[in-house]
Amino acid sequence: MTSGHKSSPAAGARIRALPPALVGQIAAGEVIERPATALKELLENALDAQASNLHIAIEEGGTQLLHVADDGCGIVAQDLPLAFTRHATSKIAAAPDLLKIASFGFRGEALASLAAAAEVSLCSRQHGEAHGWEYTPGDQRSKPRPMAVGTEVFVRALFSRLPARRRFLRSASTEAAHCTSTVQQSALSCTAGVTYQINGRKRFNLPAGQTLEQRLTALFPALRDNLLPVAQETATFSLRGCVFAPALAHSARQIGQFLYVNGRFVRDRLLRRAVSDALREMSHGAEPGYALFLHIAGEQVDVNVHPAKLEVRFSDPRAVFAFVRRAVEAACAVPLTMPVRDTPPTATQVQEPALGWLPTPPIPPATGAGGSTHPPTSRRNAQAWQEMFAHLPPPGSAALIQEKEKEEDDTAAARRAQAEEEEEFMQQPLGRALGQLHDIYLIAENRAGLVVVDMHAAHERLLYEQLKKDADLSTMPMQPFLQPLQLALTDAQAAALQAHQEDLVGIRAHLSEPYTAQVEALSTVIAGRVDAAALLQAILHDLAAGGSGLQAAERRDVILSSIACHAAVRANRRLSLDEMNTLLRQMEATERSGACNHGRPCWQQIERHYFDGVFKRGQ
Ligand code: ADP
Ligand code: MG
Repeated sequence: MTSGHKSSPAAGARIRALPPALVGQIAAGEVIERPATALKELLENALDAQASNLHIAIEEGGTQLLHVADDGCGIVAQDLPLAFTRHATSKIAAAPDLLKIASFGFRGEALASLAAAAEVSLCSRQHGEAHGWEYTPGDQRSKPRPMAVGTEVFVRALFSRLPARRRFLRSASTEAAHCTSTVQQSALSCTAGVTYQINGRKRFNLPAGQTLEQRLTALFPALRDNLLPVAQETATFSLRGCVFAPALAHSARQIGQFLYVNGRFVRDRLLRRAVSDALREMSHGAEPGYALFLHIAGEQVDVNVHPAKLEVRFSDPRAVFAFVRRAVEAACAVPLTMPVRDTPPTATQVQEPALGWLPTPPIPPATGAGGSTHPPTSRRNAQAWQEMFAHLPPPGSAALIQEKEKEEDDTAAARRAQAEEEEEFMQQPLGRALGQLHDIYLIAENRAGLVVVDMHAAHERLLYEQLKKDADLSTMPMQPFLQPLQLALTDAQAAALQAHQEDLVGIRAHLSEPYTAQVEALSTVIAGRVDAAALLQAILHDLAAGGSGLQAAERRDVILSSIACHAAVRANRRLSLDEMNTLLRQMEATERSGACNHGRPCWQQIERHYFDGVFKRGQ
């Protein structure tokens, strides 16, 4: 039998030291993984130079051009060649400095790696100099160049000399999306002005001096009035920033989790767990979003453990975990001690859409982001937060009183008819509705005992089955919008829409401009009951996250289940007894109504003899 492996041409060869250019290319691969990581290094250099304004431009996902111009301190002309030498840095000088790093850079590798991986040129002018100098690695000397004080770097044709790397690049739009995330990560960590353009088109322009709240809402308008401030401090640690309201679960997940340690963006599992543990109660299982800044004495954290400096190591991880968890918990607990509502709801407050199982006039679909005119003060944040979690209606609430009055108006005949209906419902498997528990569970009585239904889960299942039935028809019944809805997309969303345009089901949408989706119609099952914009975003997120790995049929079900989840009645919604009974009857008529699309059970039977035992009846 012949071996499947060819013997390596190098087997038995002599050992030799590699030429410096090859060493450089190998090392470059560690630091510069894709255009976004190159961009990250350039932005960090500009911020290390104390820039107050950054201009960033990328072309073709950053593979053709990465351009960063700053107004920072600049580089001394004679140091320009040194800046491109490996392990040459102005930021540390001796080993003890590694223990108290105050800058982003310190390894002196980024420019050297970039020069090995791309065509780079750098222009810089220091304060007090008459002009700047332009340097291209490999050149003997720099050339004079007119420019403002600061530094400008051009990185062209990234990886053109490293075909192995180039093969791993994704589409230009995907690489651009990574670059955009990197710019967002930097923009949130500083107060410098940031302009950013892709292929010559402006993406955003953030003025210098914005607060974190202003930056977040400028970058992600959905976060307006949906930020909960976090600010906690001990002698050793401080944590500041914002948590995104769980009501935005879908968009929060897309917006992301921005975590910083001493100003440095990191991906750290320990910190992420600490935050999500603290938010578990509130986020109802959805992944929370946040922008949080942990500060900790420099000696207690090692940032030199990862070539791209995305990971850190804490000297006392347990203390960090406990602090972060407590800090986030404390921040979330604050609003719950505040008065429930000090102003009556206004007409502009969004009404919960009508329920899907009762015939209702369709409500006009939401158009774009209206945006409130209120400044995002923490008082308002606290109130918004409070409303989101106010499960319990105040005693003697208007709804209850109205219910009573209505009952008194009922005629005896109507009451008889009702009694008959109730008797009939008692014979059904899920029985007759009695009421709601905490506006989350529906409570019903059947012959065996008590039935508890998770309203949202049950409704979701009903919609899902209905949508699947409709999707199996040759043409799915759709309701067009009178006016199509325009929705601004992130790069990742636009890429997902382009890739999966043909897969969309239950919602008709296409790219009308490079970063704008036009939503034209919704399935009649959900029309008028969902925020079409939020729904499309959620679907695109799901598709971007793993859509291409699925079979067409699986993809269809992922989309339909996302639609059902969006259109299903939310917890905290009050239902009338009629609505509850209708839900129970529809559940009985629906296949697989025992479990929601996420596999959680929809309802539970509690036998009467369970209560007999509890109350020691007949013993
Ligand atoms: P590091 O940032 O780890 O020091 P780099 O290779 O990124 O290494 O940069 C090398 C040196 O070039 C830096 O230490 C800094 O002195 C200088 N430099 C790079 N970019 C800039 C910039 N935008 N403004 C001022 N100085 C810069
Ligand atoms: Mg650097």
